[in-house]
Amino acid sequence: MRILITNDDGVYAPGLLALARSLAPLGEVMVIAPERQQSAAGHGITLHKPLRMTPVTLDAPVDEAFATNGTPADCTILAAADGRPLPDLVVAGINAGANLGEEVLYSGTASAAMEGALQGLTSFAISVTAYENCIFEAAAEFAAKLAARLHGRTLPRDTFLNVNVPNLCAEDLGLPVLTRLGRRSYINELERREDPRGRSYYWFSGQPLESDCEEGTDICAVEAGKISVTPVHFDMNFRGGREELQELIDGLGE
Ligand code: MN
Repeated sequence: MRILITNDDGVYAPGLLALARSLAPLGEVMVIAPERQQSAAGHGITLHKPLRMTPVTLDAPVDEAFATNGTPADCTILAAADGRPLPDLVVAGINAGANLGEEVLYSGTASAAMEGALQGLTSFAISVTAYENCIFEAAAEFAAKLAARLHGRTLPRDTFLNVNVPNLCAEDLGLPVLTRLGRRSYINELERREDPRGRSYYWFSGQPLESDCEEGTDICAVEAGKISVTPVHFDMNFRGGREELQELIDGLGE
């Protein structure tokens, strides 16, 4: 099995290393990841500057590893560089920090997996629910089991799996559950500061305000200590309220 590993925390992030070590025994592993932190980069791709792939040495038995100046989604696209065969599996992570609910819209980790799904590749993103003192071992072990299970299988079209693992030791983790994306609202605090020359600048410091812990959501699962597996599809169509919305645009072209 040919596996592409990428992330948005940067090629030297400890979560990527843990993932690379756990997936290496499953087949031919290639790492292509951003040279620096790209968390919350979303699904951006690079169209207006050259993309570089610099070989790097990682402390993991992978077949190839590259740092790029591109985005996480670029990394998935770059897997085919120089005529390389497409990977059988794209795995993004292990991200330091949960990617729950609407966070998948901002997440570079989720977007790298989404890009894989758009290209028809079996893909999953995996995150642990802490930014500091992350326990990657249990998540890495789960990633290897899931990757082995996905070998030779396909997911539903245009769908990837978004996995969130509570930051717990393996023995404290609950069973994996299939979930849907919940809702998390944020306070978008915009802190205004001053640089040494007296010019103002701004720094986002949003914090989750409240989470919808409705049964069946990813948020509910991780709060209960369970591994959350959410199938995510990029279809953003809203199918309700058609009549009212039709009335909204009626006559506007006259
Ligand atoms: Mn990240």
